[in-house]
Amino acid sequence: MRIDVITLFPDLIEACAGAGVVGRARERGLLEVRTWNPRDFATDNHRTVDDRPFGGGPGMVMMVGPLRDALERVRAAGGPARTIYLSPQGARLTQAKVAQLARGPRLVLLCGRYEGVDERLLAEAVDEEVSIGDYVLSGGELAAAVLIDAIGRLQEGALSDAQSAQQDSFSDGLLDCPHYTRPVRDAWGEVPAVLLSGDHAAIRRWRRKQALGRTWLRRPDLLARVELDAESRRLLDEFRREYVTARDQAEAGKDRTG
Ligand code: SAM
Repeated sequence: MRIDVITLFPDLIEACAGAGVVGRARERGLLEVRTWNPRDFATDNHRTVDDRPFGGGPGMVMMVGPLRDALERVRAAGGPARTIYLSPQGARLTQAKVAQLARGPRLVLLCGRYEGVDERLLAEAVDEEVSIGDYVLSGGELAAAVLIDAIGRLQEGALSDAQSAQQDSFSDGLLDCPHYTRPVRDAWGEVPAVLLSGDHAAIRRWRRKQALGRTWLRRPDLLARVELDAESRRLLDEFRREYVTARDQAEAGKDRTG
């Protein structure tokens, strides 16, 4: 897959997309990331890309001209591509959206700065707006880096074990189960015995139960959207009963000591 990023701060994208899983995916040719600086498409000696907003008010606005020319060059270089503007006003990014975008051959990401981008450019040249959350960043680069990372790790061959992405939070609508590694015993607790049992069916059931239980505790909104089979419903009931019993016992203990 190829991702072209239009940004005033190409170094920020390079720094974020050059390490770890995504950096390796790029090295192996599974993902190509290219950056384009709108300043290279400015027409004056100062390489101006922004101007004051009509109607007055604070801040600057990114101008249509340099962005349009940058977009034209990007499209000429690699053919038509879905163009996404990273924006706090866009649809909030989800794993389902990431998976959908990761299946495409190509994407163009437009990073805003200042007060944002002249609305005419957005209306004419952008296919959709994507937000990484309900807060405002000073520029679209970190949001683009988030998107590149989430898409990059889903490229076939990017993760050493393809199953690991399928077990991650959100991929089947639930949060992931807890994970443990060595040592078995530590001052802060023991690894649950079932994980050491070698009984793969029991381990699968335990993990499913924990994933269901965590989602119930932390993200009931997600659980409400998932269709559960009979086994999952039974495991979730078990988790709830055990959770309530443990909580009641802890409270009774506090009452006795306090
Ligand atoms: N005035 C804009 C508004 O309130 O909608 C915010 C502009 S913000 C300071 C500058 C740039 O950061 C935006 O053009 C956008 O590209 C990026 N940005 C800020 N918050 C973002 C978010 N939550 N998700 C994605 N991009 C964001």
